[in-house]
Amino acid sequence: MIIVLKPKISKKDENAVLREIKRLGYKPHVMRGVARTVVGAIGDELTHQSLENLPSTFPQSVESVMPVQKRYKLVSREAHPSNSTIDVRGNLIGGKKFQVMAGPCSVEGEKQLLTTAHAVKAAGATVLRGGAFKPRTSPYEFQGLGLKGLKMLDKARRETGLGIITELLSEDHAEMVAEFTDIIQIGARNSQNFQLLIAAARTGKPVLLKRGLSMRIEEWLLAGEYVLSNNNPNLLFCERGIRTFETYTRNTLDLSTIPIIKKESHSPIVIDPSQGAGRADLVMAMCKGAVAMGADALLIEVHPNPAEAWSDGAQQVSLELFAKLMEELKPFIAAAGRE
Ligand code: PEP
Ligand code: MN
Repeated sequence: MIIVLKPKISKKDENAVLREIKRLGYKPHVMRGVARTVVGAIGDELTHQSLENLPSTFPQSVESVMPVQKRYKLVSREAHPSNSTIDVRGNLIGGKKFQVMAGPCSVEGEKQLLTTAHAVKAAGATVLRGGAFKPRTSPYEFQGLGLKGLKMLDKARRETGLGIITELLSEDHAEMVAEFTDIIQIGARNSQNFQLLIAAARTGKPVLLKRGLSMRIEEWLLAGEYVLSNNNPNLLFCERGIRTFETYTRNTLDLSTIPIIKKESHSPIVIDPSQGAGRADLVMAMCKGAVAMGADALLIEVHPNPAEAWSDGAQQVSLELFAKLMEELKPFIAAAGRE
């Protein structure tokens, strides 16, 4: 930590601050500048009281306290300069090849899921999405098929060879969900449910961490740190839009997170234009933008009959539109230097 002292403080006041730093278990290093003095304090905040209260304890002497290092460590690029790649049934996410994960918002039945699975595979997707446990805003809305839905995903995996991504809602289900999926999705509403993140990390499966509805990027990176610090190196960040004052779209898809996450972290960045826009007619343009800006993968909601979907009907694209989208993305993928 760096402690900035107020200008022109007395030696006595300075010594009082240094004594307090030592008392709290840190080693102070005094650096005197022309206008002011700063103190570098070395120690471990995990096992010691934080120094962040110094300005309120010594209002006459301490101006501010700043961390030297970024608060996230393992997710940062400094910790791991090269890109991390996540292996999903032999397909790497975060490597040269651009990856598309697609499928319905919710698993509604075997026919709906298998029809979608075959169609998205034929169009070039490598991972099938589908929620079996759904985090619905209202308890009176479809909550997902649960274990029955997981078994349908497993059947689709065996029939098509696609990888599976599905959401984990509860720590109690971690082992069960892990058995049927290749990637565990942590939804926007749970992105700071730290015990759930730890439970997901401990399954050993890759974890896709959605950005929370009103989550700052630093909070998102720190939530990712919970996965990596629990011995799971396979983390994917997924931007799915944040809540703003805008009502034209369901959320505001923040594509600035692509270059920011790429700069700050080695973990892949995935874009979900479906929750982001909330409108099927915007999905294509959002996908093109995401590819051009350097995203590693897309997570797209696709339904054989969006008008009859049990959840998120307005934002799911039809099988035909998805096939067209995959064709139209090709020059963007090439232009971004991906395959
Ligand atoms: C979903 O992917 O269907 C979903 C519920 O996502 P989010 O958590 O981003 O709202
Ligand atoms: Mn959805």
